[in-house]
Amino acid sequence: MRYSQMFLPTGREIPADAEIISHQLMIRAGLIRKLTSGIYSYLPLGYRVIRNVERIIREEMNKAGAQEVHLPMVQPIELWQESGRSEHYGTLLLKFLDRNKHQYCLGPTHEEVITDLVRNDVKTYRQLPLNLYQIQTKFRDELRPRFGLMRCREFGMKDAYSFDVDEAGAEKSYARMFAAYKNIFRRCGLRFRPVEADSGSIGGKYSHEFLVMADAGEDAMVFCDKCDYAANLEKAEVAAPEKKNIVGESFLPLESVHTPDVRTIEEVCSFLQIQPQQIVKTLIFAADGQAIAVLIRGDQEVNEIKVKNYLGVSEIALADDDMIFKATGAPRGFAGAVKIKCRVLADYSVMNMINFVTGANQEDYHLKNVNIGRDCSVESFADLRVVEENDVCPRCGGAIQFARGIEVGHVFKLGTKYSKAMKALYLDRDGREKIMIMGCYGIGIGRTAAASVEQNHDENGIIWPMPLAPYQVIITPVNVNEQSVMAAADNIYQSLSALNIDVILDDRDERAGVKFKDADLIGIPVRITVGQKNLASGNVEIRIRKTAVTSLCALDKVAAEVHQIIKEELDAASGQD
Ligand code: ATP
Ligand code: MG
Repeated sequence: MRYSQMFLPTGREIPADAEIISHQLMIRAGLIRKLTSGIYSYLPLGYRVIRNVERIIREEMNKAGAQEVHLPMVQPIELWQESGRSEHYGTLLLKFLDRNKHQYCLGPTHEEVITDLVRNDVKTYRQLPLNLYQIQTKFRDELRPRFGLMRCREFGMKDAYSFDVDEAGAEKSYARMFAAYKNIFRRCGLRFRPVEADSGSIGGKYSHEFLVMADAGEDAMVFCDKCDYAANLEKAEVAAPEKKNIVGESFLPLESVHTPDVRTIEEVCSFLQIQPQQIVKTLIFAADGQAIAVLIRGDQEVNEIKVKNYLGVSEIALADDDMIFKATGAPRGFAGAVKIKCRVLADYSVMNMINFVTGANQEDYHLKNVNIGRDCSVESFADLRVVEENDVCPRCGGAIQFARGIEVGHVFKLGTKYSKAMKALYLDRDGREKIMIMGCYGIGIGRTAAASVEQNHDENGIIWPMPLAPYQVIITPVNVNEQSVMAAADNIYQSLSALNIDVILDDRDERAGVKFKDADLIGIPVRITVGQKNLASGNVEIRIRKTAVTSLCALDKVAAEVHQIIKEELDAASGQD
C-alpha cells in the first residue's frame, strides 16, 4: 500500500482522556477512534491488527476441533429469564423493545443462545461432543468504560462453547481449549500466564484466566517464583500450616478486661499494648441469611469468596448490627468465639495461636488469654484469608510474588449450570435422558491487541510483534523526488509484494525525519530505508524496529533477506503446545 493513499491519521499529541500507554498509542498511531463512551471505530491499520488476532484464533480453534458459527447479537429476553440471568446480569445488559413492545437485549455473551441452539438440534450421545465458536461483537453496558480497547462497551470476542456427555469428556474439552489458548497467546507474541481463577460452585482447577503481564493491568495475580503456580488474587491458596502440639500448661488464666470504646484492631493494640498478631479478629457473616463467625489473626484479611466457596452458599456479606447482636449479645466491635451463639470457622492463621485476645461478646469488654479447646471451639480450620506477598507457595514451598496482568482470555467449566436450567438434554447409550456438560471459553480480541501494545512499545511508539503487525515492512525512500531512489523503492515494493509480504511504501513528499517518526510510531517491524548515498554502492538499509539494529543490504538480496527475517520471527512465535 502506498502511504499517500492510506487513511492513516497519526498524531503527536497525547489524547487527554487516554490514561494508559496502549490507549494513547492506538489513538496516536491512527488505529482506532472513539465514537462515544466505550465504543470505537477501527481504522484500516487497527483493523488489520484485529484481523491478525482473529486469524491466529481461527487457526488454533479449528485445529483444536472447534467449528465456527455466527450467532445473533440481538437476543430475546425470554432466554435470559429461562437461564435465570436476566436479573443477575443487571445493568450490564442493554435491553430494548421492538415495535411490538417485545423485549430484547444486545448479547454480552452467548451461553443462552448457544444452549438454545444445541438443545433443539442435538438429541443423542452420537451427536456429542461438540465445540462451537464464533468471533462476534458483544455489548456490555460497563459502568466505567476506559483504557481504549481494554474495557469498552462494544467489543469483539471469540467465544467457544463445548458440550460433552460426561465429566471425563468435559475435562478433555477443557484441556484442549487450555492448550489452544496457550498456542494463541504465544503466537500473538505475548508474555502471559494462565492463572487459576475462582470457579464458584464448580470448584477445582476448572477456571483459568489468561493474564498478559503488564503494570497497567486491572487484575492482581500471584505467582510462585519457583514453579508454575499462578492464581488470581481472589483464588490464590494459602498452604495449611503444620499443626503444632500446643500444651495445656502454657495456657494462662482467662481474663476479662474493661476496654471502653475500644473496637478496632489498632485501638485494641494500643490500649492493651500488644501486636495485631496476638489478636483473633471475629467477623460475623450472613451466609444465605445465617450468621457465621470467621476467626482470623489480627493482621490478616478474610477472603469472602473463600468463605463462600467453603460453605457452599450462594450469597455472603458482612452481617448487619442486628444479626451481630443476636449472635454475640453485644454491639459491633466486641465479637469473640467464647460463648458465641452461631457456627464458628477459623482461618489457618489461628490454628497455632495460644493466649490470644478477642472481643468478649459484651459491650466495652475484651478477653485475654483465650485458648481454643479450653474456652471455645471451632468447627474447622480452613484457608479463608487473602494471600500475601512471600506466603509459602501451596504447590512447591517457593515464595509467592505479586504481579499485575490484563485478562485477555478465560476458560471455564460450566458444568450443567445452563444445560440444566435450559434443559439441554440428550439420550445416552441406554436410552436414558441426561444433562449435557458444558464449558465456555472467551478471548477479548481488541483487548488482546491493546495488551500487545502495552507489552511492546518504547518512547517512540508501538513495536508490533511480527504475527500481529498490520504491515510487516515499511519502505522509506528518503527523497521521493529523486528518480533513482523512487525507482529502487518501487522495485523492492514489487518484489516483497510478490512474496506475499505486507508492505507500506512511504511515498509521501515529507522530510525523512517525519517519515521515520511515523514508521516508529505505527510500529512496523522492518524498515527499509532507500537513500541516494547507499544506492550509489548498490545498497539499502534494513532497520529492525524492536532492536534498532541497522544493516546494509545489497539491492538484489533485500527481498530474500527481509523474507528470512520475517520467517524467523514468525517461526519463533509459533511453537505449539
Ligand atoms: P472483566 O473481568 O475484565 O470484566 P470478564 O471476566 O467479565 O472480564 P469474560 O466474560 O470472561 O470477561 O469475557 C471473556 C473475555 O472478553 C475477557 O477475558 C476479556 O478479554 C474480554 N472482555 C470482557 N469484557 C470486556 C470489555 N468490556 N472490553 C473489552 N474486552 C472485554
Ligand atoms: Mg473473566
